[in-house]
Amino acid sequence: MTDPLLGALVGLLGARYAEPGAAAGERLADKHRRYHGQARAYVRPANTDEVAAVVRLCKAFDASVVVQGGNTGLMAAATPDASGRSVLLSLERMNRVREVDSANDTLTAEAGCILRHVQQAAAGVGRLFPLSLGAEGSCTLGGNLGTNAGGTAVLRYGNTRELCLGLEVVTAEGEIWHGLRGLRKDNTGYALRDLYIGSEGTLGIITAATLKLFPQPSARATAYVAFGSLAQGIALLSHLRAGLSAGLTGFELMSAACLALVGQQFPGSVLPFPRLQAPWYALLELSGYASQGEAQAQLQQVLESALEQGLISDASLAQSLAQSEAMWQLRENMSEAQAREGRNMKHDISLPLSRLEAFVASTEQQLAEQFPGVRHYTFGHLGDGNLHYNVAAPLGMSSEAHMARYAALSQVVHDNAHAHGGSISAEHGIGQRKRDLLPRYKSAVELQLMRRLKQALDPDNRLNPGKVIALEPTP
Ligand code: ZN
Repeated sequence: MTDPLLGALVGLLGARYAEPGAAAGERLADKHRRYHGQARAYVRPANTDEVAAVVRLCKAFDASVVVQGGNTGLMAAATPDASGRSVLLSLERMNRVREVDSANDTLTAEAGCILRHVQQAAAGVGRLFPLSLGAEGSCTLGGNLGTNAGGTAVLRYGNTRELCLGLEVVTAEGEIWHGLRGLRKDNTGYALRDLYIGSEGTLGIITAATLKLFPQPSARATAYVAFGSLAQGIALLSHLRAGLSAGLTGFELMSAACLALVGQQFPGSVLPFPRLQAPWYALLELSGYASQGEAQAQLQQVLESALEQGLISDASLAQSLAQSEAMWQLRENMSEAQAREGRNMKHDISLPLSRLEAFVASTEQQLAEQFPGVRHYTFGHLGDGNLHYNVAAPLGMSSEAHMARYAALSQVVHDNAHAHGGSISAEHGIGQRKRDLLPRYKSAVELQLMRRLKQALDPDNRLNPGKVIALEPTP
């Protein structure tokens, strides 16, 4: 006997785009296949009206809705639970760039657009859409907005929230909020846009967004630098900001272990220095509007003064576009190099820069005492205080045995981040993976405010239930 909801969905979308839940296949699991769910149906609506109609049918037939984009998220926010009550809604067919307004420096695109296509549409009119991250070839704009994604250019341009001016959202009631405004100033009440961004599909379904565009830089200069301590790295960041002002676009930190591992796992890589003698490295990028030669000269001059002041011990400046791309390739291969070596524990944390070095020192010490021999692969976006603080198995221990200690080990990392004024999720979100950690690190007042918002915007708990926040306070 077919589910009457499926029958109604087929009536709405046709059998090709409204299928039984099992048809979702690997979309029922998260990217790392840690979480597996069931769906009552799998739908792929073509436009906002269809999304709204799907939500209204789910309300009529008492189903919940889990929205999914590129399924590249790391916190399993887009994976339905095991109850089989949810309709899995993919936005993959909503992949149009609706409008590019170059005079207003804005672009309006649908949530199912792949990030790279948004970047390309901006480049097509000589503009830059600066959001840039490892998954950009397969992640979608809706997921970027849902998680308030960060990436490698946040230092200069901000997170996704700061790049978005307007939204179109389907509410839990199946209404449409037409909020696609291209305004940089608009003080007309509560910041609904900012509330939906980062809500991971729990408050509404983002179907389109109006985004900020920037002038396309005409020049970029790239370099690797070596330094002896995190304190020096942070002093270097100040020095570069003062010397390059807004031109500093990237400051990607990595430990010597991270860089060496990329060299091992990707044998064709050219490391920036013949020997990795310093403990820390950073990939720097300056982008600007002068000539290529001027940009390189400017970066070189600032790095020479950093060398004179003892902030860095070495620098290697890309001399060509090919060299610059090879430098970025090392950074882009960093996660994959770790995956090839074996699974490790990933922590996406952020800290005030003033506390970063103290955090690393105290965490390493406690981990060494409680989990002797663990190895650290620390990298991240230093300009944003965002560390990917990854901890690998001691030599000789299997990664399975190491991963079995995840809860206890990651609690040491998260407790330390919290104690130093940091966050347990900088750019990956909460999803289901970190949901039950929130009560440890957020006050009862903050959690209650979040619950009230959820109940106000989604009173039936229909949208992505069980993600981000548990509705019942933990006893
Ligand atoms: Zn990152």
